[in-house]
Amino acid sequence: MPGSTTSLTDLGVRSIRDGVAAGDFSAVEVAEAFNANVAAASVLNTFIVATPDAALDAARAIDAKRAKGEPLGKMGGVPIGMKDLFATKGVQTSAASHMLENFLPEYESTVSQKLWDAGAGMLGKLNLDQFAMGSSNETSYFGNVINPWRRNDGGNAALAPGGSSGGSSAAIAARLCPAATGTDTGGSIRQPAAFTGISGIKPTYGRCSRWGIVAFASSLDQAGPMARDVTDCAIMLEAMAGFDPKDSTSLDMPVPQWEANLSPDMKGKRVGVPREYRMDGMDEDVAKSWDQGIAWLKDAGAEIVDISLPHTRYALPAYYIVAPAEASSNLARYDGVRYGLRDLPEGAGLQDMYAATRAAGFGAEVKRRILIGTYVLSAGFYDAYYTQAQKVRTLIARDFAKAFESCDVILAPTAPTAAFALGEMTSDPLSMYLNDVFAVPASLAGLPAMSVPAGLNREGLPLGLQIIGNMFDEQGVLDAGLAIERAAEFVVRPDRWW
Ligand code: GLN
Repeated sequence: MPGSTTSLTDLGVRSIRDGVAAGDFSAVEVAEAFNANVAAASVLNTFIVATPDAALDAARAIDAKRAKGEPLGKMGGVPIGMKDLFATKGVQTSAASHMLENFLPEYESTVSQKLWDAGAGMLGKLNLDQFAMGSSNETSYFGNVINPWRRNDGGNAALAPGGSSGGSSAAIAARLCPAATGTDTGGSIRQPAAFTGISGIKPTYGRCSRWGIVAFASSLDQAGPMARDVTDCAIMLEAMAGFDPKDSTSLDMPVPQWEANLSPDMKGKRVGVPREYRMDGMDEDVAKSWDQGIAWLKDAGAEIVDISLPHTRYALPAYYIVAPAEASSNLARYDGVRYGLRDLPEGAGLQDMYAATRAAGFGAEVKRRILIGTYVLSAGFYDAYYTQAQKVRTLIARDFAKAFESCDVILAPTAPTAAFALGEMTSDPLSMYLNDVFAVPASLAGLPAMSVPAGLNREGLPLGLQIIGNMFDEQGVLDAGLAIERAAEFVVRPDRWW
């Protein structure tokens, strides 16, 4: 039973993979245990579609391989959740939208295929913010996910799991899956990981193929793993990453052995602390946890250096121009002709069909992004907004390049707050956007960045610390993450109330 220490659903990626390989339990037993947890947690609304049979089929294949003495793969026997932004052949891929409700892809995304090839199985498709636009999961057409964590104030306020990968984060925290895929355009792996007390890494832009992932903002979108600890993230990222000729921005570099090279030793490493991230009125507990993280890394042998990222305050405005601009272009394909929904009013012409389909198929936040994006790309405003934002983006990337001359990794909070209550931010989109303030700079610069759990705030909610690394240095990020993980000893978990 979940709650007891011997439960299979308490195990992470590495323990399941190694346990299946050693014959301690079968892959089918593992899949059955997670399938049962998924079925019992529908109130959390983490899965849009559960695929228990797919999980069992993959597990049977692994058990059969083991019986024949064949290698089981990096993720052999590990059932995972798949964010419903990845195209999965024959299984609904909705991007949590009405537009793509019932869309059954004819093909499999490169990343999901790599995971199946590595021996993983699919528990189902996870809920998210619609088209990955949001920070709370409240823009999903299928209803919001509920964070399994609750405040310790005795109230039962339902909290946001973060977004957009909020189904992934909540499902992992609630032991419905040991790991899940996420995507991160401006924080969507890191912020939900922080809100739910789990780990997640956005690799360097280009590490994971974008092919078959529903596009939001193509120059920012990156897939990455979310799991309960750093080692599990390293294992899963190895399975997900790699060059793909089908994605023109895919990195043509070998995939490093992140798992085998993991080390929490920070001796000789310099950790940069960006002074511009210490903002006025910063949440006291967030500031404290950041100081604690600095002390931990120092204890692990690191030298702490003060760094400056002077253009930080322009990152959020630049992101909210670049991302909607690209989104408005990417989402133009949903016109009622080629994909998903078609709304064809009686006697309507082609233009009417486009308009009716898009009006019915997109939610309010998606429409807001399309409007902003179309505006900033329009002839009269292109230079004033889009070109300016691209220049700012370059300056932000230069800030980081300069900073990495004097440090190896950067430590910062993942988000300015712990999980907020559902509904608390929806009336003011700007306050919601502000929640991405620490996540967005690394996205604009294409850098690897990870969130690891660092402790609880005074309300009993998890807080995350973010490690940002130089281009291609996922290893440095994972190592510093492991150092924090060892020091934080974060073993608390949400009480099972669902
Ligand atoms: N919350 C940010 C947004 O709404 C980031 C989303 C993401 O990374 N997919 O755009």
